Amino acid sequence: MNTEFLHDTPEDIARAASLLHDGELVAFPTETVYGLGADARREDSVRAVFAAKGRPADNPLIVHIAETEQIYDIASEVPDLALRLAEAFWPGPLTMVLPKRDCIPLVTSGGLETVGIRMPKHPVARALIRESGCPIAAPSANRSGKPSPTTARHVMDDMDGRIAAVLDGGLCEVGVESTVICFDDPKTIHILRPGLISREDLAPYAARVYVDKAIFEQVAPDTKVASPGMKYKHYSPDAKILPVDAPDFEAFSHYVRNHAVFGTYCLLFDADPEVEGIPSMRYGDSGAEQAHYLFLRFRELDEAGAKLVYVRMPRHDGADLSVYNRLMRAAGFEVISL
Ligand code: AMP
Ligand code: MG
Repeated sequence: MNTEFLHDTPEDIARAASLLHDGELVAFPTETVYGLGADARREDSVRAVFAAKGRPADNPLIVHIAETEQIYDIASEVPDLALRLAEAFWPGPLTMVLPKRDCIPLVTSGGLETVGIRMPKHPVARALIRESGCPIAAPSANRSGKPSPTTARHVMDDMDGRIAAVLDGGLCEVGVESTVICFDDPKTIHILRPGLISREDLAPYAARVYVDKAIFEQVAPDTKVASPGMKYKHYSPDAKILPVDAPDFEAFSHYVRNHAVFGTYCLLFDADPEVEGIPSMRYGDSGAEQAHYLFLRFRELDEAGAKLVYVRMPRHDGADLSVYNRLMRAAGFEVISL
């Protein structure tokens, strides 16, 4: 298959929308990462998404909509709390898991009776959903296990020849995937996957916000988890990623200089000095900056030929938890604690 490379123009968006309408796969930009889209109602198209990614069949896809009212086409029950959150955070990087309607096949929901729904903010994503007339099921547009793509070129690196088209919308602003939540009861938000919208952001809307423990620790492959994606190793570049939990830069630098092998790199904060003799890249200082750069740097480290990457440990609170979670999963939860 020849993958069409489309641009952010009305003609190309119309072309992408007609491909989706015809059941083809199209990768498109969102504010979080690039998504690999298919008509969420068509089993054949959704099966092709799983095949193109090499994604396990029990890992559900998120369904993307362009208007809040479309939530009623996809979900069979919409609690008041979900509506209040939609009003506050949509369009934006928040996915809500709700009971699904029959129009969403079990292939899309990974065999679950629930479905994750999100209204993205990226204007190209919104235009594409509107013009195609489809709710769009879209996981991240990477091969399963690889870092999520934040540019159209990264999508091509993984998907060229496997999908009908890629729609280029520039570099993704947020850089990590959406916050995924479900509702344990009408007043309790349960965070299944951390994103830019943090526990602190959600707290004013609910009596309780519970953070799933799978965010902090590795889940055995055979355990039943609330969010199936959490049990798979994820986001990893080819280089081995090793976060170093050090009290300060000096301790980090000392450890790295004493444990460097061929192909060692560091991934540092912007404010850090250099680690003498070791090549480095930087991924920002705040949680929002680190989220924006993390997957980009993972791919650049592979391109630079890195074999082992010592990473400065991000914080665990607010939006920083999303960076911490992606990093720990890329590292298979192995950490050097000094
Ligand atoms: P991705 O499409 O790669 O961003 O992954 C979507 C993730 O959202 C999945 O791996 C799940 O962890 C989560 N998710 C989507 N739908 C559901 C659902 N119905 N129930 C629980 N988690 C979900
Ligand atoms: Mg993904």
